[in-house]
Amino acid sequence: MTKSSDWIDVEKKYYAQTVRRQPVVLVRGEGTRAWDADGKEYLDFVAGWAVNQLGHCHPVVTKAISEQAATLMQVSNQFYSVPQLQLAETLIENSALDLVFFGNSGAEANEGAMKLARRYGKLNRDGAYEIITALNSFHGRTMGTLAATGQPHYQEKFTPLQPGFVHVDYNDVEAIMNATTDKTAAVMIEPVQGEAGVIIPADDYLKRVRDWCDQKGILLILDEVQTGMGRLGSLFGYQEYGVEPDVMTLAKGLGYGVPIGAFMSKEHCMALVPGDHGSTFGGNMLTTAAAYAGTKFLIDNDIPGKTKEMEPYLLGRLNDLRGRFSFISDVRGKGLLAAIEFESEISPQVLTAANEAGILLNAPRPTTIRFMPPLTITKEEIDQGLERLGNALATI
Ligand SMILES: *Cc1c(COP(=O)(O)O)cnc(C)c1O
Repeated sequence: MTKSSDWIDVEKKYYAQTVRRQPVVLVRGEGTRAWDADGKEYLDFVAGWAVNQLGHCHPVVTKAISEQAATLMQVSNQFYSVPQLQLAETLIENSALDLVFFGNSGAEANEGAMKLARRYGKLNRDGAYEIITALNSFHGRTMGTLAATGQPHYQEKFTPLQPGFVHVDYNDVEAIMNATTDKTAAVMIEPVQGEAGVIIPADDYLKRVRDWCDQKGILLILDEVQTGMGRLGSLFGYQEYGVEPDVMTLAKGLGYGVPIGAFMSKEHCMALVPGDHGSTFGGNMLTTAAAYAGTKFLIDNDIPGKTKEMEPYLLGRLNDLRGRFSFISDVRGKGLLAAIEFESEISPQVLTAANEAGILLNAPRPTTIRFMPPLTITKEEIDQGLERLGNALATI
């Protein structure tokens, strides 16, 4: 059997060094728990980066994948696909949107949404093409979504950026109003900013942005790649704020472990026609069978409602930690997306100590650590995980 440290050497030798990894080689998972190549057990509050809504290897998802893998996996979008249509029907019947297109990632979902906005602007707003997005947003790593992402440090090395994006402060409706011109086709924002460190806007922010978009005839695109599929305590984040988007993107939690993304649109703004967009793997039978099985389980068992009930518990336990450690300056969260803020840039040390203590966490900022556990996590698992985090913080 090969040890974790051996795999870490293999990675250094063969894998493009574009990501900063934690020195953890996970080889097996079940629910909220995962084990590394040396047999060490962890409570996993990263969950495949807010992907594994039902935990690792949920039997419903595993079964759907095995059965579909043994039946038919890829036929291309030249032909109809039953699992793709079952997933489409489920998402549309449970959302405010009317039509869906499947891709393979969040970035690809957003690319589709942005193409749709451009077509919409050409057809309905005299060629308007600009999309207003927020500073500190995250929309993906492709050239288009990089331009949409309001974070210069991701962009600077790859200029010139694709034109047509205007960045404004998040949680500031007036900034959107001031940035709106004849050229504006859409506003694209996250209901809660995830990669920025779990930034929760004012309760009426989305509603006021919605009103403004209606007044101006521009599209409201919600990037729900991280907030969708129950994460905030409703199936979709927009339901928490009493608005309906014109266009919505999903990925991460839609996959339950497999790579899939989607953009969804209201009928009135589906400006794309046959030939305008496509994807070889998009809506592949294997991934849509997994996503359909997972989503059906999520809805049938009201996992979003359980997530909402778990929110005060998680935040309560995080606030207990805040009471114990004076260097924690803030605790915030919605549903099962939460963060704690430190007074100084200690996240890297905290992650190292947390790995040692047996809890896996993510640090979106040097001063912030993020919690995005499976939505099926139990109170006992929260207690045990945060006890391990407490042990880790005590060593800082
Ligand atoms: C992760 C993320 C993306 C990008 O998704 P990928 O699957 O990594 O391309 C886009 N938007 C938001 C809000 C995200 O959290």
